[in-house]
Amino acid sequence: MPDPLVHIEQIADQIVEYCKALVRIPTVNPPGDHYEDLCQYLLTTLQGLNCQVELVRVPSSRAEELYPWGKDYPRVSVIGRYLGSRSQRAGLHLSGHFDVVPPGKGWTKDPFQPVLEDGKLYGLGISDMKGGIASILGVIQTLADLRIELSGDLTFSFTPDEETGGHGGVGYLAEQRLIQADYGIITEPSQPHLVKIGHRGVLWVEFVTRGKTAHGSVPYKGINAFEKMVKIALGLQELEKRLHKKQTAFPVIEPEQRHPSLMIGGVVRGGVKTNVVPDECFLSIDRRLIPEETVQEAYAEIQEVIARLQNEDPELRVDLSTPLRIEPAHVPIDHLLCTTVATSHEEIYGKSPQRVISPGFADSHYLVRNLGIPTITYGPGTISMAHAPDEYIIPDDLVKATQVLTRVALQLLA
Ligand SMILES: [Zn+2]
Repeated sequence: MPDPLVHIEQIADQIVEYCKALVRIPTVNPPGDHYEDLCQYLLTTLQGLNCQVELVRVPSSRAEELYPWGKDYPRVSVIGRYLGSRSQRAGLHLSGHFDVVPPGKGWTKDPFQPVLEDGKLYGLGISDMKGGIASILGVIQTLADLRIELSGDLTFSFTPDEETGGHGGVGYLAEQRLIQADYGIITEPSQPHLVKIGHRGVLWVEFVTRGKTAHGSVPYKGINAFEKMVKIALGLQELEKRLHKKQTAFPVIEPEQRHPSLMIGGVVRGGVKTNVVPDECFLSIDRRLIPEETVQEAYAEIQEVIARLQNEDPELRVDLSTPLRIEPAHVPIDHLLCTTVATSHEEIYGKSPQRVISPGFADSHYLVRNLGIPTITYGPGTISMAHAPDEYIIPDDLVKATQVLTRVALQLLA
């Protein structure tokens, strides 16, 4: 049999073409545009690569609950399996999200017309993570071209909505139990030289304080909702200092990431006019959890702060809501999946990768926590490019990551 890794070098141009074709379909989320077009492209491509594929559609009756910001845009995913497998024993699952964030300011190139310049291939979402999807297509094409027979099943999913929490994407597939596997890899950008064995959790909390309006010349007649919010913000700052004493035992990318974090004031709103006592004030916080914490514990700490403040100030009225709650998720660092990816990376890149907990979350928690599938993130592209203007990927990186993923598939499913 020809060497699969050499074959990948020979089809390098094709992998780059996949990547470009994906970038040209502007799957911007929110609201969740052109998902059907992209799925159609994947269906056609995969049908030519010895795969069984199907489209999974989230019923529109679930829109309000799962994607209220894009109700008029259908949520569709592609799932399937490579047919050249001797058994249907659950094996390896490869997954990637195809939604991209809206292009921010600062682009000097057309975000949806990929161009190669100075060895960099530019395009919106090319690192995060259409490059990763192209790599999965490269793995499957290699298996199909060389008619490789696996003894375990290779399955895949391509999903929307990761950039908004994944509820209409991997979350829905997990809820419907449409994914079965012994191992999972989400091919999010992880270069240079990282294997993300898990991610931190996240808890978003929104606070709305209630007061009473009065004329600005007689403020003592009102209750100032902004001043109430200041108390909360100061209480949260104190909590942030205490959180800094907690430390994870897991390896992280930068030393600051050892601690939980609490970012206050991503959104602050309140008041209507300079001479009116504000009767309402809004504040949001973004709390990130180390793997040793749970969302419930993190929320309880915040509620304690509020309870203490309300004890001191009976006039403090505040409503709390938690629009995003995602538990931390990880795979043991010495799990066969982690070691296989690490040794494969070292063989292809000539450098041993670091196994780390990612500061931001990915869709892997749905697979790890809801389905019990050990899942890591590993793929081409750099995370620093994600959501950045003039996002690019290095084509050689695309090829190398495809080689690593192919080697992993061959090792785990031999
Ligand atoms: Zn991503």
